[in-house]
Amino acid sequence: MSEGHLVLEALAKTYPGKDGAAVRGVDLTVERGRMLAVLGPSGCGKSTTLRMIAGLVEPTAGRIRVDGRDLTDVPVHRRDMGVVFQSYALFPHLDVARNVAFGLEMRGTPKAELRRRVDEALDLVRLGHLAGRRIAQLSGGQQQRVALARALVVKPAVLLLDEPLSNLDAQLRSAMRDEIVRIQRETGVTTVFVTHDQQEALSMADGVAVMNQGRIEQTGTPEDIYERPERPFVARFVGRANLLDGTVSGVEADTVAVALPGLGTVRAAGGPVTAGAATTVMLRPHRIALTGAAPGSGAVRGTVLSAGYAGETVAYRVRVGDAGPVLDVERPTGAHASYGPGAEVELSWDPDAPRLVAAEEGTE
Ligand code: ADP
Ligand code: MG
Repeated sequence: MSEGHLVLEALAKTYPGKDGAAVRGVDLTVERGRMLAVLGPSGCGKSTTLRMIAGLVEPTAGRIRVDGRDLTDVPVHRRDMGVVFQSYALFPHLDVARNVAFGLEMRGTPKAELRRRVDEALDLVRLGHLAGRRIAQLSGGQQQRVALARALVVKPAVLLLDEPLSNLDAQLRSAMRDEIVRIQRETGVTTVFVTHDQQEALSMADGVAVMNQGRIEQTGTPEDIYERPERPFVARFVGRANLLDGTVSGVEADTVAVALPGLGTVRAAGGPVTAGAATTVMLRPHRIALTGAAPGSGAVRGTVLSAGYAGETVAYRVRVGDAGPVLDVERPTGAHASYGPGAEVELSWDPDAPRLVAAEEGTE
């Protein structure tokens, strides 16, 4: 296994006077030049983790290494990290160039070099023409770029971004997604960004670590996380999912047969599991097809409870059988027939659509 550029080992934080830990033993590895997204709901410990990496919060336990060097006890200004905070934390009374120059001034960088590097950083974020502007005269997207330039001007070993897009409106957010990816590729800086937005994490990052209640639930490529979630929390948090509890009734080489109450036996990929074990099957709503019910066809039958038009798609709630589970089904509008409440339908899916997600330990 290759040694990562940034490595967290059993990193933990309990804030004084607070019940329960904010971060409970996080292990993470980020390869050099890669961008890792830490994705999780509000309050799960993302900012605390990022701040521990930056040196702004002291860990209760665990180690932080960059290039094999233990930085856990190294003070913040000697860690060689660039940080962009959710609020940007810019100096409102200074102009753009002075904001960006700040880190270099702190390091006593000679004037000529400082000017050259500030220009370079402003060019990188495409703000060269606004060097003399005051922060208050900038839009949210421009402030975001200043914050990025300020973090990058010192050529940090690691770039840390805390919900970098959450203060921008929807349109700007998608433009800045592309910008951050471009800037990260151009600089090749090892990057960790935290977000609660699954679209952002999946579309921007090379790797995603899904965090819940202070722990990492799963780490993988965006595709791993979405297509092959290993736990119900991940399946539910990253995209929409029907989660059906059942019992393993047979195990074969590639698939597992699972008896689902009220629905029947479904073949699912994933595992490993043993016959007789309790398990959960995930079916993404968009992987379920609906057709009009044909009498006596033996397919899974259901009744439409509701149909919600949403432009590109229709979101259905469908009750399986008379008293079976209610499934979310999402169908594209247009070429597909649509069904109203009370319609009798058949549900079908491709063989690779159902996935096993291991039964969860503990309570949820
Ligand atoms: P996230 O960034 O994922 O929303 P945080 O890391 O900010 O989560 O917070 C994780 C938990 O730690 C929350 O329960 C939060 O209330 C708590 N917490 C965060 N910062 C502090 C602090 N400075 N003092 C005490 N508790 C904190
Ligand atoms: Mg946060």
